[in-house]
Amino acid sequence: MTTPQTRSDLPVGPLPLPETGVQWNDLQKELAMLQAGDAKWRDGRVFGIYFPTRGDIEKVAEAAHSTFFRLSTHHPEVFPSLFRLEQEVVAMAANLFAADDSIGNVTSGGTESIILALKAARDQARAERGITAPELVVARTAYPAFVKAGDLLNVKAVRIPIDAAFRADVRALRNAVNANTILIAASVPTITHGVSDPVREMAALAQQLGINFHVDASLGGFQLPFLRKLGHPVPEFDFTVPGVTTLSADLHKYGYSPMGASVLLHGNAATYKYQGFAVPEWTGGTYRTPGVLGSRSGGGIAAAWAVMRYLGQEGYLNLTRILWETTQRFIKGIERIAELKVIGQPQTSVLVYSSQTLDMQLVAKGMELKGWSGRPQADPPSIRLLLAPYHAEIVDNYLMDLESVVMSVRNREPLTQKAVA
Ligand SMILES: *Cc1c(COP(=O)(O)O)cnc(C)c1O
Repeated sequence: MTTPQTRSDLPVGPLPLPETGVQWNDLQKELAMLQAGDAKWRDGRVFGIYFPTRGDIEKVAEAAHSTFFRLSTHHPEVFPSLFRLEQEVVAMAANLFAADDSIGNVTSGGTESIILALKAARDQARAERGITAPELVVARTAYPAFVKAGDLLNVKAVRIPIDAAFRADVRALRNAVNANTILIAASVPTITHGVSDPVREMAALAQQLGINFHVDASLGGFQLPFLRKLGHPVPEFDFTVPGVTTLSADLHKYGYSPMGASVLLHGNAATYKYQGFAVPEWTGGTYRTPGVLGSRSGGGIAAAWAVMRYLGQEGYLNLTRILWETTQRFIKGIERIAELKVIGQPQTSVLVYSSQTLDMQLVAKGMELKGWSGRPQADPPSIRLLLAPYHAEIVDNYLMDLESVVMSVRNREPLTQKAVA
């Protein structure tokens, strides 16, 4: 596979270290100047990437993070404290997702969780079923990390169509699986449409054929259990569903932890034992890691642990309630605009809107000029919003700007910039 260019590949030219050290005061100013060109994330103008909540939660996360970020989890015998924190995060997640045992790890993010779920499935299938040309099957709406993981691990990624409700097409799944399929995965929900794949039917097929089944609850993991407690209809998606072997949920999204934390759970030790990697006969003794990284900072784990305990069930319930109400306000406001329609039926705060008549790239561009992060999508042409609790504060401003942008696009007027305070 060819490697596409990314911004970080653009050369900045040779940059020598400063001859003498720079004062922190000056560095701080430089950092602030650099950030001045970024999206106004602290003001709730970014959707996804950063999930704003409340100042007190962020303070707890920062303090816990700074207590542990210098340390590595790589040597649990040296820092049993970190090992304990990771175990407790896994145990709290296991309880939330009805896993019988607490088997899993905190990873660096959803992508690493997916890579490890695939590795475990691949190695288990090779050892126990003799499969040497493995394949995975996901809907074409699944997060690209599945294709990336397949590329890294030499597992062919087969992508199946979606049905009229934007969910993985179970009939297409039945046709796509074969004797080499080692993993089927469902998204709960997808990031591109905000709807959940039919976990129960998909997992039943996987179980019947002896194939591992992963639930990618990156987005829904820390919303759906609380939405259910609040009385919303939530389809079963966790280890209560027969056939589910692994599940991931991102702590750095709706777990409200800082960037760099996801949790990967296994239904049983039989699969988990294939997740890690060991080199037994190394000159340094046995080398062993549970994940992709070697040394990994304890900051993300400590912050996740602290935020989970600081919020407790009550805290997550409150944030989820705010999130739900905020999402409904966005939906109502967006659908008041004649040309716009929210697609699917958002069960969480992942909201996607589209238009039959307007150029959504232009709408996104117009919103960007007004200081919002636009996030246009290709198929269907749409804009996606990953809402966070703090967005309750900006709903009306966003909708006002959206109305004005839609009017400009409708009337083919030039899009205008707005000074952002
Ligand atoms: C965010 C996300 C992931 C993982 O992304 P990371 O950036 O690696 O955390 C996986 N699946 C879905 C549906 C996601 O939204």
